[in-house]
Amino acid sequence: MLRSAFNRLLGRAFEPKADEDTTFRRVVEQSADVICRVVNGQFCYVSPSAMTVFGWNTQDIVGTDGLFVICEDDLPIIQDLIVSLSSGEQDKAVSQVRIVCGDGSLKWAETTAHIESSGTANEMILVMRDITQRKQLEEELAAMALQDGLTGLANRRAFDQAFDREWKRTLRTGGEMAILLLDIDYFKQFNDLYGHQAGDDCLRAVAAHIQELARRPTDMACRYGGEEIVVILGSTDLAAAVSIAKEMASCVAALGIPHEGSACTDRVTVSIGVAAAIARTGGSMRMPEGLLQAADHALYKAKAGGRNRVEQSILIAPAE
Ligand code: GH3
Ligand code: MG
Ligand code: MG
Repeated sequence: MLRSAFNRLLGRAFEPKADEDTTFRRVVEQSADVICRVVNGQFCYVSPSAMTVFGWNTQDIVGTDGLFVICEDDLPIIQDLIVSLSSGEQDKAVSQVRIVCGDGSLKWAETTAHIESSGTANEMILVMRDITQRKQLEEELAAMALQDGLTGLANRRAFDQAFDREWKRTLRTGGEMAILLLDIDYFKQFNDLYGHQAGDDCLRAVAAHIQELARRPTDMACRYGGEEIVVILGSTDLAAAVSIAKEMASCVAALGIPHEGSACTDRVTVSIGVAAAIARTGGSMRMPEGLLQAADHALYKAKAGGRNRVEQSILIAPAE
């Protein structure tokens, strides 16, 4: 009974015909959601809240297929939804797409589409809700989950994902990639001498400068743990990676952060291990873990060699 009243209401001109219709008219017109009726692919009714929610003039939508208010990138989602509903697989579907508002801005909308079994097969009721704030919050939380709280660099989880992605890309393109593993020298002594708070400030300053030098879109600096930073360098060979590493080491030394506890200089310095891999068949190293091990090995060499230096190792990796 409810559904038939709803249908009558949305399907007709809006003079109240009966108490039931009047009630439903109020429900629809006062709803914060935008309620629409679509028949044979054309909007027949759009509730007045469309103006407050999306800034749409309802008369601009009625009589059209409404697709022009869907963000172009999200049109395939709507097309899939229409196919799935019209094939009869289901009579209800929920989608989340970006909507073009009356002023040209974008808002996220969650739309519940219902095929009306009591009407013709081509009749659909849409209930649209503005979920922009929820989406923004979700995006902020997702970004936070991949970010290191102290330095603002990408965190270990983000590194694992990006490292794997970049290695797969390297294999696909038959190219090469490099990574740098960077560790602050005598950092325990720095904390002991200047305090943990100063240690945190130092770590933040070093991270900010490394971030600045990881310039290309395929470069990514991540806090690997403690006072270690790992930098992914996509499409980069060993020579280029060593040169970037040397630039980073010089830049950290040039910060001139005093470090009386350092046995190699009087300021904060870093040691860097560099490793590069070429995607070729014939290798036996497990990848991309092998690349990280090679960088770790090079870092060990840099520490053993006196610190405040860059060491390297190269390996040829199998194309999986
Ligand atoms: P090395 O030159 O061999 O790298 O010596 P190190 O003292 O830097 O090396 P080690 O790994 O033994 O010590 C790292 C120290 O870094 C231990 C810890 O006190 C400090 N550290 C790790 N994470 C943080 C952090 O988030 N903040 C601060 N302030 N210190 C940290
Ligand atoms: Mg250290
Ligand atoms: Mg360390």
